[in-house]
Amino acid sequence: MSGVHARGVRRFHFARDVEEALSLLAAYEGRGALLAGGVDLLRSLRVDIEGLIDITRIGLSYTKEARGGLAIGGTTTLTSILESRAAREYGGGILADLLHRVAVPPLRNMATLGGALVSAHPWADIPTALVALGAEVRWQGEKEGRVPVEELYQGPFRGLFRQAVAIEVLLPPWDGAFAYEKVGRTGYDIALLNACCGVGVEGGRIAWARVAVGARPDRGERLPWAEEALIGQRPSQTLWQEVQDLVAKRIEVGDDRRASGAWRREVAGVLVERALARASGRAGM
Ligand SMILES: Cc1cc2nc3c(=O)[nH]c(=O)nc-3n(C[C@H](O)[C@H](O)[C@H](O)COP(=O)(O)OP(=O)(O)OC[C@H]3O[C@@H](n4cnc5c(N)ncnc54)[C@H](O)[C@@H]3O)c2cc1C
Repeated sequence: MSGVHARGVRRFHFARDVEEALSLLAAYEGRGALLAGGVDLLRSLRVDIEGLIDITRIGLSYTKEARGGLAIGGTTTLTSILESRAAREYGGGILADLLHRVAVPPLRNMATLGGALVSAHPWADIPTALVALGAEVRWQGEKEGRVPVEELYQGPFRGLFRQAVAIEVLLPPWDGAFAYEKVGRTGYDIALLNACCGVGVEGGRIAWARVAVGARPDRGERLPWAEEALIGQRPSQTLWQEVQDLVAKRIEVGDDRRASGAWRREVAGVLVERALARASGRAGM
C-alpha cells in the first residue's frame, strides 16, 4: 500500500478472539495497536508502533436488532452496515443517509464502525450521528464497561482504546425519525459542517428532539437549547425556520483553514432546518 506511514512495525498478528487481542496489546506495553480497516491507522504518523494486532477475525462483525434498537459489532465495515436490512429500517433510514455520505465505496468496504468511533476526527460524520442517536459503546479491556458515546467524547477516550477493544455500538430504539446533513467542498469530501437531527411526535406535538452539529470545527455535540425550543411545539416549516435562526444566533463555532466561523454560523442553521424538515417528513408529521 503506497503512502503507508506506521513505519516502525515489526510484527503482524491476527487475533482469534477479544482476549487474545487484549493480551497481545498488553504484551507490547504501549507499542502495539489494534488494527481494523486500517484506513486511519496505516496513514498515521505514529512511529512508536511495533506490533499490529488485526481484530477483524474476532467475531465482532454483525448488525442485529437488539432491544428494539440495533447492536453493531466493532469491526463491522460501513458497507456491511449499509447492506444490512436491520440498519436500513432503523431511525427512519438514518444510517443509510449517514453512511452514504462517508468517504467513497472502496474506503467504506474497509473502514469499520469501531475504527470510526475511536478515530473520531473533529470533522467526522459518524461521531455527530452517534451523539445525536444516543449511542452507547460496550468496551472490554482489563475491565469492561458500557458508556454513552457523548460522555466518551467528553473525556480522553483515545487512551482508553489503546488498552481496550470497542466491542459493539448500541443504538437505542426511537419512536420517530432522524436525518443527516453534510456540506463539503465536493460530494465525497470530508465535512465543512454536518448536522444530525431527530424528532418524534405524540398528540400532534413534538415529544422529543435531538439536534447535533459537528465539524464546527470541533467534534459533533448536541445543542440542548435547540432541542428545548422544539419540544412541545407543533411541527411546521415555520418552527424549523425559527430553530434555524436560533442556531445561527447561539451556536459556538470557530475558524480553521477550511472554513470561517462566520460561514459556519450561517450554514449550521440551514443544515439543522433541512435535517429537521426531512426527519419530520420521514416520521410522517
Ligand atoms: C480518504 C479518507 C476519506 C474519509 N472520509 C470520511 C468522511 O467523509 N466522513 C467520515 O466520517 N470519515 C471519513 N474518513 C475517516 C474514516 O471513516 C475512518 O478513517 C475509518 O472509519 C476508520 O476505521 P478503520 O476501521 O479503518 O480504523 P483503523 O484505521 O483500523 O483504526 C483507527 C484507530 O482506531 C483503533 N481501533 C479500530 N478499531 C478498534 C476497536 N474495535 N476497538 C478499539 N480500537 C479500535 C485503532 O487502533 C486505531 O487507533 C475518511 C478517511 C480517509 C482516509
